[in-house]
Amino acid sequence: MGTRMERAATMTHADTGASVRETQRYRPAAVGTPAARVLVVEDEPGIAGFVRRGLLFEGFAVDVAADGRTALAAIRDAPPDVLVLDIMLPGVDGFEVTRRVRAAEAAERRSALPILMLTARDAVPDRVTGLELGADDYLVKPFAFDELLARVRALLRRSQTPGNGGAPADVLRFGDLTLDLGSRTVGRGDREISLTTREFDLLALFLRHPNQVLPRPLLMERIWGDDFFGDSNVLEVFVANLRRSLEAGGEPRLIQTVRGVGYVLRAVS
Ligand code: CA
Repeated sequence: MGTRMERAATMTHADTGASVRETQRYRPAAVGTPAARVLVVEDEPGIAGFVRRGLLFEGFAVDVAADGRTALAAIRDAPPDVLVLDIMLPGVDGFEVTRRVRAAEAAERRSALPILMLTARDAVPDRVTGLELGADDYLVKPFAFDELLARVRALLRRSQTPGNGGAPADVLRFGDLTLDLGSRTVGRGDREISLTTREFDLLALFLRHPNQVLPRPLLMERIWGDDFFGDSNVLEVFVANLRRSLEAGGEPRLIQTVRGVGYVLRAVS
């Protein structure tokens, strides 16, 4: 039961003390399956930290490399399950990393490491080049964390051998509440609930972490992204609207306030 945690903590051992604390504070989203390992190659500390915190919170083991040479060494020493790779890197860039990874795999007849490339906005030639070199998917900056998460999970699903661990459920449930990630519909009992995109994303986040207190800064970062500097009144308004929709049929409250900290999805008897 503790193996996942220990592993996550070990993976960030070489990192700062702060990151180890963070790993220990955030519980994995699911227990019982081994943590998939993601290597994030990104030289911008803000983006690297944003991606790393989000993935740790979702229960992944995460390493970060700030340049291509370090990334290639890390891949050689301890191959990750997925590579999140920025193109513009100091020294060896993302294209060259991809080229070398694929060349080594071909030479050693190893299976291909799934690669998600991060590209600058409007850099269409970059995307084409990346895919031609063997990247599996790309994501255009700036991106919402949930987009990255969905793509990382999709790459893992594709690379997983059947029976080797859980693909995430497409329908999330809590009590009489259901949220379908595929059709993006929400219901409570027989009642259909219509939500805005952000309300839906916020509710999905709660449903992925039931009974876990989600701190305000985490919610704001996850829903509005890395560069959201508004005050948390905005979050309160969103939660209030979401509650109104969820309780419109007179149902009991599911999203509880934890004073001074944040919110938790929890049934109150
Ligand atoms: Ca960069």
